[in-house]
Formats: sequence, C-alpha cells, structure tokens
Amino acid sequence: MRKPIIAGNWKMNKTADEALTFIDEVKNNIPANSAVDSVVGSPALFLQGLAEATKGTELKISAQNCYFENAGAFTGENSPAAIADLGVQYVIIGHSERREFFHETDEDVNKKAKAIIANGMTPIVCCGETLEQREAGETEDWIKGQVENALDGLTEEQVANLVVAYEPIWAIGTGKSSSATDADETCFVVRKTIADKFGADTANKVRIQYGGSVKPENIKEYMAQENIDGALVGGASLEPKSFLALLEAVK
Ligand code: PGA
Repeated sequence: MRKPIIAGNWKMNKTADEALTFIDEVKNNIPANSAVDSVVGSPALFLQGLAEATKGTELKISAQNCYFENAGAFTGENSPAAIADLGVQYVIIGHSERREFFHETDEDVNKKAKAIIANGMTPIVCCGETLEQREAGETEDWIKGQVENALDGLTEEQVANLVVAYEPIWAIGTGKSSSATDADETCFVVRKTIADKFGADTANKVRIQYGGSVKPENIKEYMAQENIDGALVGGASLEPKSFLALLEAVK
C-alpha cells in the first residue's frame, strides 16, 4: 500500500546540457501512470531547467540540499521558498556527504525538514551508520537517534508524508551493498522509531528507502523486503538507461 519511490542522486555531476539530455531521454519513457514515484536529485544549478523540462510528466525533481531560512543574508545558500517556486517537489537532506564534508548536524536536518514541509515540498531525510559503528553493534541506537532528532517537532501527518532514506555510509559509492535482509532490519529500526514517536499508523504510511550501491541488478532484492519502499541511488542513476532499468525493475 506504500507507493515505491526511486530517487536518483546525481551528487555534483553533470553540466546543464548533460542534465537536460538525460531528462529528455528519460521523461517520456518512465512507466506510464507509474506504480512508482520517480525522482531525480539534481545540483541546484539545473533545478529550474529540469523542473521546466519535466512539467506535466511523471518525473519529479529533487534538490540535494537547501537552507532552512526563506530569505536573508546567507551568502551562497538556496532557500526552500525559491526552490519550491521553481516547481521542485523534493529535497534530499542530511546526506552523509553533507554531514561529513559540510558539517550538517541533526539540528540542521530538523530545521531543514520543517522549512521544506512549510514550503510544500517533501524532504528525503537521510540517515546511516559508519562501518565502525556497525562493527561495534551501535547501528540501532545511532539510527534511532538520527531519526528522532531529524523528525523532532513534526506532526504525525507531516511524518507520514515524508521519505526517509537509510544509507549505510560504508555502502555508498563503494560497490559494497548491504545485504537485503540487513538493510531491511535497519529500515525496520527506522519504522519502529517512528511508530514509537508518532504512532503505528504514521509508521505504516512513511516511505523508507535503502541507499548504497543499488543497481538495476540488485534493486529487486531490496524492494522485496517488508520495510523497504524504494531506493536512493547515486552512481546507477547517472545514465538514462540505468535509471530507467531501476524503474522497470520496480514497477
Ligand atoms: P551510490 O550512492 O548509489 O553511488 O552508492 C547512494 C547515495 O549516496 O545516495
């Protein structure tokens, strides 16, 4: 009953031309009236062009970050109000690369989630543990804390409508994907954390993605798991053929 959601995360790749070429090849080929939500996460520079190019199609556009204020003296940042105004529908927040390289904290993620929702968009809230944490048996507590902090102060309805992406950091861009059952176990931790804080009904509605070296060849294994409702995909989302193959595998 939860609609699958596949989101590409291009990270800092492509030029404007390459981005538009991708969209042209993909937008009319995604499964019609799709049983899956299809999203492309683009660098901020191309959001306007991609939002225009996908208007009226099943393909939706996501930002990869935003600030939590709608305007002001924040040099170099992009406001959620301005992003929403372009027709962008999703924003990825709390990606491990942003946490590691740009010092994004749980508190920032929480403020961003609220600002994104206030501007009518859907946050894709990322969480995930390091290899050291996994080996030390700390995954469950860590994920629980990240999810609780990110969603603090949101209403049940707001949580039910957002997306959580569970991405073990050691599986991102490494080709070392988590086993489907391990991924499902941790996605269950996300769902249980939401159930404890926002109720079972909310937890049953919220969509949880797995991310980390997902490819057309392995996506079905993840999607077959009870608690996995989609994927956040980096490397395998960069080529139209591969992105379409991900959607085909899920529909
Ligand atoms: P990957 O990246 O699919 O290349 O592992 C996933 C992500 O960082 O969202």
